[in-house]
Amino acid sequence: MNQAATAPRSVNRVLPSVRTVEGGGFAVRRPFPSSAVEQVDPFLLLDEMGPADYGPGEARGAPDHPHRGFETVTYLLAGNMEHRDSAGNHGVLGPGDVQWMTAGAGVVHSEMPGAEITRAGGRMHGFQLWVNLPARAKKIPPRYQDTPAAAIPEISIDGGAVTVRVVAGTVLGARSPIETHTPILYLHLRMLPGARIEIPLPHDHVALAYVFGGQGRFDTRGTAGHDGELVSFASNGAAAAIESAAGGLELLLLAGEPLGEPVARYGPFVMNTREEILEAFDDYRSGRMGRIG
Ligand code: FE
Repeated sequence: MNQAATAPRSVNRVLPSVRTVEGGGFAVRRPFPSSAVEQVDPFLLLDEMGPADYGPGEARGAPDHPHRGFETVTYLLAGNMEHRDSAGNHGVLGPGDVQWMTAGAGVVHSEMPGAEITRAGGRMHGFQLWVNLPARAKKIPPRYQDTPAAAIPEISIDGGAVTVRVVAGTVLGARSPIETHTPILYLHLRMLPGARIEIPLPHDHVALAYVFGGQGRFDTRGTAGHDGELVSFASNGAAAAIESAAGGLELLLLAGEPLGEPVARYGPFVMNTREEILEAFDDYRSGRMGRIG
């Protein structure tokens, strides 16, 4: 094997996230899209919801809205979220649960705080990731993969110095049950102070880390990433080498095969052409994506 095939990747950019307000008024940290990064093909958006501590009746969500042409992935760490859609689907997510929703041809859904947190208040914390669909799959029927926390593989390394939850993909001998349309790796890493890990990555995948607790180093030059920062890896190696700083480190690691297709994007619709976006608006307004009953 040559050097390039085995060396860890270097970091090419470290970017701050932006604080903004989503849906019906809940605060998020958004690593992308931003003025610096429109998308990271095949990833379209990443939001960290909270962490926020709500009093009774204070929790906010995202009332009825449509999606077409991509997938929304909700991963909850704390609190609960209730989901309803135009096809009559309904479910509640709790800590550690994942909902991988393929919007495909279109859904109208709502993502609201669950009855429990609405009544009693409490902490909400989680993520929403948007994964683009290839042109051939943009109009497939909608699909849900509601995956309970217990079904998400969790790997403990070095006596618990590193914990890896495998939300999607296959890594270090563990495989997520979630099916993706193109190869995706979605990991949640918790690292104790001073812990190190190398995550093997296919050479043709883009790779990102989003730090949401503590800080660490992300390549052999010691490039630092801090709480709230997006670390973008170059495509020059076969692994991401991550080392936790003294305070510990918590992050999402995302990797995926780029689609390399044109992106036409407006609000909740992500297609390949402007005509397809206009068609999506027309289908939504005329009720062809359905309504929540
Ligand atoms: Fe949504």
